[in-house]
Amino acid sequence: MPVYDFTCLKCNKNFTLTLSLKEYGKDKLKCPSCGSGKVEQKPAAFFAVTSRKS
Ligand SMILES: [Zn+2]
Repeated sequence: MPVYDFTCLKCNKNFTLTLSLKEYGKDKLKCPSCGSGKVEQKPAAFFAVTSRKS
């Protein structure tokens, strides 16, 4: 299953969640630290890999 990186906008903590597409579509993403639903998904890790070709 894919792993998603999130940042909590309330307590500023980073966390990862492993979600199926089914779960991902639901609006129940919560910060495991403070329980806030104000979380922001970060780009997947493989996007961060620097591979400049040009
Ligand atoms: Zn939080």
